[in-house]
Amino acid sequence: MKIDYLIIGQGLAGSLLSLALIEKGYQVMVIDDNHQSAATKFAAGVINPITGKRLVRTWNNDTHHDQSISHYIELEKQFKTKCLHNHALVRFLRSDIEKDAFSKKQTDPNYSAHLNQIIQPKQFTDHFTDAETGFVLPSVYQLDTPTFLKSAKQKLIANNAYLNTTFQYSDILEKDTYIQYGEITAQSIIFCEGYKSVSNPWFHHLPFENAKGEILTVKCTTLPSNTIFNNGKWLCPTSSPGTYRYGTTSYWEFQNNNPEEAGTTLLKESLSKWIKHPTQIDRIDAGVRPILKNRRPIYGFHPNHPRIGLINGLGGQGTLLAPLVIQAFTKALETDSNIPLTELPSIKG
Ligand SMILES: Cc1cc2nc3c(=O)[nH]c(=O)nc-3n(C[C@H](O)[C@H](O)[C@H](O)COP(=O)(O)OP(=O)(O)OC[C@H]3O[C@@H](n4cnc5c(N)ncnc54)[C@H](O)[C@@H]3O)c2cc1C
Repeated sequence: MKIDYLIIGQGLAGSLLSLALIEKGYQVMVIDDNHQSAATKFAAGVINPITGKRLVRTWNNDTHHDQSISHYIELEKQFKTKCLHNHALVRFLRSDIEKDAFSKKQTDPNYSAHLNQIIQPKQFTDHFTDAETGFVLPSVYQLDTPTFLKSAKQKLIANNAYLNTTFQYSDILEKDTYIQYGEITAQSIIFCEGYKSVSNPWFHHLPFENAKGEILTVKCTTLPSNTIFNNGKWLCPTSSPGTYRYGTTSYWEFQNNNPEEAGTTLLKESLSKWIKHPTQIDRIDAGVRPILKNRRPIYGFHPNHPRIGLINGLGGQGTLLAPLVIQAFTKALETDSNIPLTELPSIKG
């Protein structure tokens, strides 16, 4: 089988890259191990404009946000499946740092449009403790990541571009003019393997700071629908009514991507202190965010192995950033097949 690109991993990066390349007329094959280590599978998929204790804007220019949203809307049309949802986001402010940042930023013209809907004193106190102070973002996008992955996989299968197996580095044959992997002859191979790139023989030298996080799937039928709640941890609706994902933890020392007891207990305790309704925990999962030291995504080819490339470092905001990375990468590939490793410029506000 002769193809242009062999892509390893069908998370957010591999799905978007492979579908963009197919759209441009390239022959592609994606190898994935059924999402055994996919961060995407457990991501909340929230494209949150204001993040962190200091309430920092995630992007400085709405064009980036709109570019990313349009990318998903275009894919939804191809999938004939809804993956992107629009919700209100309620952000509760608890610490002095958060309250201080809020009062300063309310009068900042770069922020005021986002921060002008203040929570009414009793608006959410029936549902949550510590819920008197905060603001509402009336329209925030959330990618339904499990539906997205499933739809992308179906489209790849329909294009004969998907192989469900575990990729082995040792089986690669690197030649001057092509890459051989079993029966596949490809012009290039591009690794989109998420945090597993720490063990990649060509890229393990990159300054990874991958962060693991647990996430609970929780049933609760008494909360307002179509709303994401955030008190430092978030409670996000899923495609199943009355079911939410609650998370997440974040730590840098770990052995694997299985849920750990300490993280799980922390989440269970913080949820039960916060929510006033009965809840039932249906699932406990964990994922590892692929992060590089400077928190910027990276794409391109190895300096000494021009047929071996990667996309990595999507971090905790992969949903917003992945379409921007893919658009930059595929545009560069149109004029040059040997793109050096390139960081996506920062879009932070
Ligand atoms: C708990 C949690 C919550 C998050 N919440 C958000 C959020 O709200 N908003 C947001 O924007 N981002 C969020 N993120 C971050 C987001 O999930 C990531 O940025 C993004 O999913 C990374 O995508 P990726 O394609 O690079 O990696 P992955 O999704 O990890 O994909 C890699 C794929 O490669 C496969 N693979 C790896 N090695 C092999 C092999 N040898 N053979 C075959 N297949 C292989 C894996 O199984 C997987 O399917 C969250 C992450 C976590 C963990």
